[in-house]
Amino acid sequence: MKKILIYIAMQSEAQPIIDTLGLEQVSILPAALPMKSYQGEDGKQQYLIVTGGKSDLYDVDNVGTEPAAVGLQAALNLFDADLVINAGTAGGWQNKGTNIADVFLGKSPVRYHDHRIPIPTFEAYGKGSYPCIDTSDLAKQLNLKQGFISTSNSLDYNEDCDRLMKQNQADCKEMECAALAWVCHLYQKPFLPVKAITDFVDGEHPTAEQFQANLARTCEALRDAIIKILKIV
Ligand code: SAH
Repeated sequence: MKKILIYIAMQSEAQPIIDTLGLEQVSILPAALPMKSYQGEDGKQQYLIVTGGKSDLYDVDNVGTEPAAVGLQAALNLFDADLVINAGTAGGWQNKGTNIADVFLGKSPVRYHDHRIPIPTFEAYGKGSYPCIDTSDLAKQLNLKQGFISTSNSLDYNEDCDRLMKQNQADCKEMECAALAWVCHLYQKPFLPVKAITDFVDGEHPTAEQFQANLARTCEALRDAIIKILKIV
């Protein structure tokens, strides 16, 4: 059976997918880690979903790059996945024709827009350039968009972020993907990012407001896309 590992930062992004696949919560990850894991199979594929879990210090979901990298690494040590998927939400650009709840498949490379190291030998390392699988056929088959994903640990952005997101030709702005792509690069795992748009980076309303307003329906679109993708990959 093909083994598919799906990392999802937030519980509200993951729950519709966990419910639809009928996965059971399991405690296979090291006890020190706050990430949650859910397992199941459908006869053809074996699934492990890992979410960031909740921070006991701050009582919010563990979004961002550190939980993503630590969680994925711990999971890969226990579950030798044939494919790693990152499902999540992201900001998009209205001026690129993106709509709320659009689903993008990632394009190589996945990069950072907040790791600025202005020393010539370190600059490219800071931005990172980590591969994902070629998603052209999948995008055509399922009528999904393809886009470049740009990662930072901030929900908002400053002028430097903006400049680097432009360099990255970003279609999706989020907070985990490049870290997960890096771990997949280390572990030589095929990586497929799937991002659904909750908010406009170039919109008039504050990101957090848009995010909350659009989260539920965007997560349903994300779930529908993931279920279709799992039938093909
Ligand atoms: N305002 C939200 C905060 C969630 S943090 C809340 O109150 O719950 C944002 C999460 O969604 C991260 O996991 C990130 O990957 C994704 N995300 C969605 N839109 C984003 C954006 N515009 N910028 C950065 N991350 C975004």
